[in-house]
Amino acid sequence: MTNLRLTIDTAALAANWRACATACAPGTAGAAVKADGYGLGAQTVVDTLAVAGCRDFFVSSWNEAAALAMPKGTRLAVLHGVQAGEMGAALASDAVPVLSTPAQVAAWRAAAPERPCDVMVDTGINRLGLTPAEAGSGLLDGLAIDVLHSHLACADRPDSPHNPAQLAAFRAVVAAVPARRAALCNSAGIRLGRDYYCDLTRPGLALYGGGTSPVVRLHARVIQVRAVPAGASVGYGATWTAARDSRVAILNLGYADGYARALSNRGAILAAGVRCPVVGRVSMDLCAADVTAAPAAEGDWVEIAFDLAATARHANLSEYELLTGLGHRYARACE
Ligand SMILES: *Cc1c(COP(=O)(O)O)cnc(C)c1O
Repeated sequence: MTNLRLTIDTAALAANWRACATACAPGTAGAAVKADGYGLGAQTVVDTLAVAGCRDFFVSSWNEAAALAMPKGTRLAVLHGVQAGEMGAALASDAVPVLSTPAQVAAWRAAAPERPCDVMVDTGINRLGLTPAEAGSGLLDGLAIDVLHSHLACADRPDSPHNPAQLAAFRAVVAAVPARRAALCNSAGIRLGRDYYCDLTRPGLALYGGGTSPVVRLHARVIQVRAVPAGASVGYGATWTAARDSRVAILNLGYADGYARALSNRGAILAAGVRCPVVGRVSMDLCAADVTAAPAAEGDWVEIAFDLAATARHANLSEYELLTGLGHRYARACE
């Protein structure tokens, strides 16, 4: 029993993926489901998007891969490759590694030269990946490369010179290295246009409501309603003082649930459809809302206003941090 709910709109999730896939035609879109599907629940995301037609999924690590039951006909790739000590797990898994260093390539060639793998090439973000020179050196000869990947540093800034520079560098690698498919774009990359799509894209945030239809709704229980007379304050630090006699709802939602402390006196809830401000400081497990104007009673469920862009701005977080920080105290359900 929990008094917090995270509801996933699976129709919106599927529609967001379809919009990405349609934009990328004749190529297609996969789905980044790392970090438990950006906090939504990776298995739910995989099952929903597999039905929608998604075939390629991405996680970060082998334990994320092992936690997923992949639907028939889908493919899972592990973005962090295969480290020393992980080869056993990799060989026991149906997932494929995204190899990103010469040592990983050598280890894979020694262990499973005929098995398909992916390869990451770094074209300028200087994070994971072989250098273009390494990729073109013969290191990869004879490997069964399914997807050759690279990743954009500044895709969220369409005018950045990094974008065309990385595209040109990636095209040179794609021309030199035999692979079945090429993939360059995350969600923001898809907005850069068709030059960037290649055969496959790897959207994450855009599936979960980043600049697309909202997917996540949060509800909390009113666990107490109290009368707060004019002049009295609410919460730690007494950061809000009632200007008039007020009714204040106390909710079982706090920063341990990813409801950031920066949302103190900035967030809002919807009680029976009436927008009510969060008042006072958000604490670990509780926050308060001024429900003077709404019919909120003890035991009622209220919706937490959770527009991703606005909430991230108010919380001083990225939309990614907002979603992946939601935590484990929600009962997750689909609608
Ligand atoms: C996480 C990740 C993505 C997805 O990024 P979004 O910005 O959420 O679309 C794509 N590619 C790689 C390599 C990633 O690590």
